[in-house]
Amino acid sequence: MNLQCLGDSFEGAETTRVGTFVWRISGQSGHQGLLQAGIASAETLTMTLEVPAELKAVGKADRQTVLERTGGGRAAECICRRVRDELEWAEAIRDAYADKKALARAKATAMRGNNSKQSFYLDNNGVLHKFDEGTAGELSYLEDAETRTGEALEKKWAAEGEFVAVKNQGNTAPAQSGSLNEVQSGASASTDPVACKVNMPTLARVRANCTPAIVLNAFSSHENVHAATCRKMNNRPIDTWDGYTIQLKPRAEIRGFAAPSSNYDAYMQSPANLAADEVAAYTAEIGVYTEFIKKRCDG
Ligand SMILES: [Zn+2]
Repeated sequence: MNLQCLGDSFEGAETTRVGTFVWRISGQSGHQGLLQAGIASAETLTMTLEVPAELKAVGKADRQTVLERTGGGRAAECICRRVRDELEWAEAIRDAYADKKALARAKATAMRGNNSKQSFYLDNNGVLHKFDEGTAGELSYLEDAETRTGEALEKKWAAEGEFVAVKNQGNTAPAQSGSLNEVQSGASASTDPVACKVNMPTLARVRANCTPAIVLNAFSSHENVHAATCRKMNNRPIDTWDGYTIQLKPRAEIRGFAAPSSNYDAYMQSPANLAADEVAAYTAEIGVYTEFIKKRCDG
């Protein structure tokens, strides 16, 4: 049987004594193959076998097999562009977290790590401390890092005529092309600080943002770093600032103050700890983008 090239797909028919079988191979790109792509640039190939009407009449169905082109094929240019933007954001925010001046300022102003409402933080020796009364700032260190990153990239990308990335907890999702500084909350992945379970964006979100599979893989690598730290932190008792040993998992309050939801939650309220965990997480995420660009994109 010969397969004929029909532009974006290959098709061939095989006539047998029970009827005609049709084979079709088409290429897709993006999460769950949402984008049609030429065979050469496809991330996945779908092979469809259409069975003859005679066989359908006796209950046989068409068959479809999806093959992932691991390491093969060139990604569509729009996917490469998206990955480069995500990479640029990830590198910039990693550096924003690690910024020594910003960390010193955070410490001096009792800035919380990722939740400005929290009363406690766990230091990296495993001791729980209470922030001074009335020192909760407007912004958490996470928001501070995202704001600094957003401002820096906004300027740079506006100068380059590109759309601007939007900030989000732990990750980023791009705005629609052409819209400046659009914030899409809840678009990204996150890690539950009590169960240490990674929550990926919903399929509806993925579709709305047209998030490619590669970007979801990178988000997942990022969150897995947090989840590992979370499990490490939550599996041990901690010492409080006044000498008691407890475990938060979750705990309603400590001496009349609302308690963090878990050891890991408390750990992430120290800007230095948060920065260390985010730097590790973004480093993992950056590794996924870099590898993809090297193998699948030009230039
Ligand atoms: Zn993160």
